[in-house]
Amino acid sequence: MPRIQTDILVVGGGPAGLHTGTLLARAGHHVDLVEEHREIGAPVHCIGVLAGDAFDQFDLPVGSLINELRTVHFVAPSGAIVKYSTPTTEAVVIDRRRFDRQLADEAPAAGVRLRTARVTAVNERDRSMDVLAGDLRFDTRAVVLACGTNDGLQQRLGLGMLRLLLRSAQAELPADTQQDVEVHFGSAAAPGGFAWAVPVHRADRPYVRVGVMCDGDASAHFRRMLHALRDRWGIHVEAGCAPRLKALPLAPLGRTYADRVLVVGDAAGLVKPTTGGGIYYSLMSARLAVEALVPALAADDLSATRLAIYQSAWRRHLGSEIRWQLILRRVAQRLSDRDIDRLFDLASTDGLMPLIRRTASFNRHRDFIVALLKHPPARRVLFRAAFA
Ligand SMILES: Cc1cc2nc3c(=O)[nH]c(=O)nc-3n(C[C@H](O)[C@H](O)[C@H](O)COP(=O)(O)OP(=O)(O)OC[C@H]3O[C@@H](n4cnc5c(N)ncnc54)[C@H](O)[C@@H]3O)c2cc1C
Repeated sequence: MPRIQTDILVVGGGPAGLHTGTLLARAGHHVDLVEEHREIGAPVHCIGVLAGDAFDQFDLPVGSLINELRTVHFVAPSGAIVKYSTPTTEAVVIDRRRFDRQLADEAPAAGVRLRTARVTAVNERDRSMDVLAGDLRFDTRAVVLACGTNDGLQQRLGLGMLRLLLRSAQAELPADTQQDVEVHFGSAAAPGGFAWAVPVHRADRPYVRVGVMCDGDASAHFRRMLHALRDRWGIHVEAGCAPRLKALPLAPLGRTYADRVLVVGDAAGLVKPTTGGGIYYSLMSARLAVEALVPALAADDLSATRLAIYQSAWRRHLGSEIRWQLILRRVAQRLSDRDIDRLFDLASTDGLMPLIRRTASFNRHRDFIVALLKHPPARRVLFRAAFA
């Protein structure tokens, strides 16, 4: 089998891998990217809600934008509703398939060679890495693992396993009405997580993305959520509307680098632990990986000691966010329905709403979590759950 020589082999054609590949190719390196699915962007496992400012921040193509989101209805286990609106648009709904495909169009334009194959082995050789992908064999100076929740390669390279996984189920279905976003909490809706309905204003008709991320049987909770929404939203539930199922990582790997290897995006567990949202952190980690790799390639030093700078960089940018969000996630998974109802009461009556307005931000949750822990009645509920 002939060996393909390259500078960087990127494993995985999701946002993290495609953005890494494009930035490295633009910096003048030979980049090959291997994606196991024939069609990049499919199948879709994503609500597709993204902070609007991510497009400017990462210079992303805007053709995947579908609609803006301004208002969310949070629904308590008791059925009580807290409505939250932002004065300006912070979040948008994207067509996730088109989003990935547009990133995939940019990659070859920058010089990335895209190939379809599944990477099955990554081994260190003398002064390079030997990567096997179907009937392709690569001899590469470094490997970027951007393979999402499929963590077999990380484990085989001694980088550990993804931790704190929740299960998810989601489908996009035609609906007769357009409503605001709904997020439902509680053991019936989504134990340890939340269930959602997100309006999608496509050109032909309205749709809704219905889904759940939870500790238990995601398919059963998906069906329950669908049943709860069906009449109100006028959802067309055809016999075959099975949801897509996927595990979500919610905590980073202990180590995201090794000799000649960096791990980015979901593959590194770099997602928001509160919500599982990971597109923004994937793009951020891609950028930081490139900032570590470009000088390391120039110095021809791709040792773990040199590449450790990547982990320091993402910790500097995201570490404190991830730490605080993990605290809230761990407490949230212990909240009883009564605790959640109590927090909803506080949001309606006891000054929690101004605190949310003052501190909430789509990608940064630390300030809100710190403020919540300083709010005496909310702190009492959270501490009781944490130490129960
Ligand atoms: C139900 C659900 C809803 C979500 N909603 C949101 C949301 O609204 N907003 C948000 O920001 N995030 C959301 N996320 C998270 C978001 O989808 C991920 O964080 C994001 O896709 C991570 O990008 P990535 O490139 O790291 O990984 P992925 O997008 O998972 O891409 C990894 C790619 O690697 C490929 N691959 C895997 N193994 C191999 C191999 N051995 N060889 C070759 N290719 C391989 C896979 O086929 C895949 O294409 C959601 C996730 C789920 C499950």
